Amino acid sequence: MPHLKSYDVIVVGGGHAGTEAALAAAKMGLSTCLFTMSLDTIGQLSCNPAIGGLAKGHIVREIDAIGGIMAKAADFSGIQFRLLNRSKGPAVWSLRAQADRVLYRVFIKRVLEEAENLDIKQIAVTELISDNTKNRVTGVVTALGTQYLSKAVIVTTGTFLNGLIHIGLRSFSAGRAWEFPSSGLSESLSALGLKIGRLKTGTPPRLDAKTINFDKMEAQWGDTPPVPFSFSTEEILNTQLPCYITYTNEKTHEIIRDSLDRSPLYSGKISGAGPRYCPSIEDKVVRFSQRERHQVFLEPDGLKTSEYYANGISTSLPLDVQTELVHSIEGLEGAELMRPGYAVEYDFVYPACLRHTLEVKDIGGLYLAGQINGTSGYEEAAAQGLVAGINAALKIKGKPPMELMRHEAYIGVMIDDLVTLGITEPYRMFTSRAEYRLLLRNDNAELRLKDKGFASGLIDETMYGRYQKKLASFNAEVLRFKSTRIKPSMINGKLLERQLSQLNEPATLEQLLKRPGIDYTFLESISPPEIELSLDLKLLVEAEIKYEGYIKQQQMLVDKMQRLQYKRITDDFNYGEIGGLSTESLMKLTEIRPETVGQAQRIPGVTPSAISMILAYLEKRK
Ligand code: FAD
Repeated sequence: MPHLKSYDVIVVGGGHAGTEAALAAAKMGLSTCLFTMSLDTIGQLSCNPAIGGLAKGHIVREIDAIGGIMAKAADFSGIQFRLLNRSKGPAVWSLRAQADRVLYRVFIKRVLEEAENLDIKQIAVTELISDNTKNRVTGVVTALGTQYLSKAVIVTTGTFLNGLIHIGLRSFSAGRAWEFPSSGLSESLSALGLKIGRLKTGTPPRLDAKTINFDKMEAQWGDTPPVPFSFSTEEILNTQLPCYITYTNEKTHEIIRDSLDRSPLYSGKISGAGPRYCPSIEDKVVRFSQRERHQVFLEPDGLKTSEYYANGISTSLPLDVQTELVHSIEGLEGAELMRPGYAVEYDFVYPACLRHTLEVKDIGGLYLAGQINGTSGYEEAAAQGLVAGINAALKIKGKPPMELMRHEAYIGVMIDDLVTLGITEPYRMFTSRAEYRLLLRNDNAELRLKDKGFASGLIDETMYGRYQKKLASFNAEVLRFKSTRIKPSMINGKLLERQLSQLNEPATLEQLLKRPGIDYTFLESISPPEIELSLDLKLLVEAEIKYEGYIKQQQMLVDKMQRLQYKRITDDFNYGEIGGLSTESLMKLTEIRPETVGQAQRIPGVTPSAISMILAYLEKRK
């Protein structure tokens, strides 16, 4: 077989995981090649034209802090930005942006093309090359029979592995609508001993704006000024557009109920599990039969297109039924469907086989990231790609890995969940999955992760220098809050206006900020800083001071957990040698092979007494 070239890192797939992985490895100085099915779909938003949202927005900020590109692409292409959950505490505030689908893709492709050390090739990878022991992957074979060798291979094939699309009772092989599926690779992964399963996801029809009656709908605008995702974006330059809200009704539901016999989901044609939290409209109508209506958001696909994404009516019903159900919705009576909705079934790899670095435990040099690990969502995929890319590069350089802990990042929570708990349906990030939410805020992602990005080599000196300046401003402002005393005469009038209780004696800005009903902006109007702070710094100062007590409490919990978290269990640890483990504990521990006692503790079915026995055994071995 012709061998064309050797690289340090090969990345298979140009989606959200693949692009972050390739860019990270290349930026860290390794010769990297990204193989993808089509150059035109690099960075493609397969489903909704939006980035972020609850918890996902946190992930985007974390990616930015570590040195990935998703946040910058979202800022470049964003046509509506909203900070969600503003009425709740800052721990759950999260950014979401509508993105111009084409601009997003163009930005990502351009950054990749301009990157040093990175080759990009349009060709499908059909096989992995491994050494004789099957313990190490050493390269890939392409659909043209050519070989490329490498020290690490990162597979990020999304929904493409043996992808099968369903529209009504018709199905055809494809990775996304009208795109080739990925054949051969799944079998190659299976031959290496990885356990493969099947999942499904779906998407709604796209409608033509010319044929939508927006006057019958409620317009929803974003925030002004828009808050960017990236800590380094100063301003959002695109024209901002509204989304529109309408609803399904009894007639829509009747059309759906009458057509369930032609639904691939209900006729038993689809075998893969779908995302429970993101159900198709047919699923919603059946499962929530008491609901009279469901919300539909019409989201613009971009600034220079008339395509609208009908968020809320994801469906795989036949096209005639899709058309009828769309027409039953207010404002969509004459809407033309430009692209039909569909469901896609695809292979994934059970992620319990992975280390926290996303390297496969038993196969050196093989990393998996993104939807292939059973997750769903651009942000989840991009974050995994970044972690896999960084770790592949660090390992090749002989440096220690970058592992993110549960108290350090939502990305850490996600990876720990995947490798410890596994998945039974597509995994999506929620704020409720994180136990240390006050530590993992949207506003403090840089504080949590910038040092990691710098240590791994992804954040350069200039970027890090800029961050350190920002950190100095933050520290100075916190100090000013602690040391500046406000006399009652300076503030009581304004407190009265807000119907807040008056001051009887001087108080520091810090003490005032901790009071309910008082925020940074209010205090800034009474005692402004010498130099105006950026909005993200103001929010950071506010959250760190206001919730200091709760933050300290969570930190104490983390410190307590750390002792177990950092107790390493080596790969050669034999659980069979510990007498007295319950059969379930023994089975789970042997299957998952946790990397630390902390991880072992989080495996469902592993009892506290099993943990004590492991600790005692580790002590004895020492
Ligand atoms: P992808 O973005 O799928 O990218 C995979 C890349 O790999 C592509 O570039 C492809 O060309 C390339 N590739 C595949 N096989 C090979 C090969 N053998 N050789 C070379 N290149 C290869 N997410 C949500 O959060 N909510 C949703 O409701 C939702 N609905 C979806 C509906 C549909 C129909 C689809 C397709 C996706 C949906 N998603 C949804 C998922 C979201 O698109 C993915 O989670 C995200 O894109 C995954 O990123 P990824 O990088 O893992 O893979």
